[in-house]
Parts: sequence; C-alpha cells; structure tokens
Amino acid sequence: MRQANGVDPSWANCGCCGLRADLNHISQVCGLTGGLRTHCHDRVVKALAFCFRKRKYQVWVEPRLAVHKTFCKPDLVVVKDRVAYVLDPAICTNGLDLAIRYDQKVAKYQQATVRDQVLALTGCTAVETHGICITYRGAIYERSYHVLRKLGIVKRSWNFILLKVLVDTWRIWNQWRSNSYSTRTRRR
Ligand SMILES: [Zn+2]
Repeated sequence: MRQANGVDPSWANCGCCGLRADLNHISQVCGLTGGLRTHCHDRVVKALAFCFRKRKYQVWVEPRLAVHKTFCKPDLVVVKDRVAYVLDPAICTNGLDLAIRYDQKVAKYQQATVRDQVLALTGCTAVETHGICITYRGAIYERSYHVLRKLGIVKRSWNFILLKVLVDTWRIWNQWRSNSYSTRTRRR
C-alpha cells in the first residue's frame, strides 16, 4: 500500500506523529526531539561566541532588539572593524533548504528597524546580516562559510563545531529511537 503511494517503505512511522520517520523528520520537526534540537542550535551559538571572543571581538548573544511594538533576538551580533555582523545559525536539511533558510534569516534581520537597533547597540556605522546554515549532517552553506572565514574562524574551529552538530544529530536520533520505539507502527 505504501509502495503503491510512492512512499519509501524502508522507514518506520514515527510513534509520536505517525509520519515517515526519516532523519529529516526526526532532526527537524518531530515533537519527540524538540528539546535536543534547541540544545544543538544553542551549542552552535555558544561555540561561535567563544571563537569570536577569543579573537577579541565584541559579541552579544541574543540581544533583545525592539522592533515596532514587539522585539526580536538575533542569536549573535559581532563587531569587527566598525561593522556589526548579525549572525543567526540554523540547523537545516540538505539541498534547497540551506539557501531558503539563509534568505529567510537575512530577510528577517535586515529590516531597517532591526538595522537601526543594531547600529544603536554596537555604535557601528554598517550592518551585515547572515544566516549560518548547517545541515544536520554537519555540512555548511557556502555563503555562511565565506562570512565566517572573513571573520577569521579557522578550520580547526570549524571542524569542531560541525562535529558537534553531527554528534548532536546522532543524539537526537538516539533519543527519538528510545522514545518512539514502544509505540511506533512497526514496518512489515
Ligand atoms: Zn515524529
């Protein structure tokens, strides 16, 4: 039946959602893994902040910026050579998702109101906005890679951060497996 519907039968269904439990589902949307997903994202933010501080940049982690009647909190604001860099990491799926998520992050934070707040916060004269998009398999989007290279993040730091993501994906999958196993629809 599932084959007839064009669905790959090699994946079990998720015991939480009933959806096909491939790694895209488990690492991106499943209700069983939300806590660890946030944890993985936060570890990337922390590791990047650590690298920037080591290079003596001014760093703000999740500064609260007033926008219209609400607020937004970009993950990182970093200052280098009087330019403020708004950086927002995202753990994504493969392929198109990287470019889409990058553009979404840029669109969200490059509004004039956000830029004004960042300029006021940092005392800089210019703002650049970038998504730091990394796949759950530990690969990085090219444009994100170039900005971090420009900011002096060295290969060794890279490998360390991407390895963390890869290990966290395994931990997320492992958590999903133990929580979902008892209730999921078994493959036949
Ligand atoms: Zn699920």
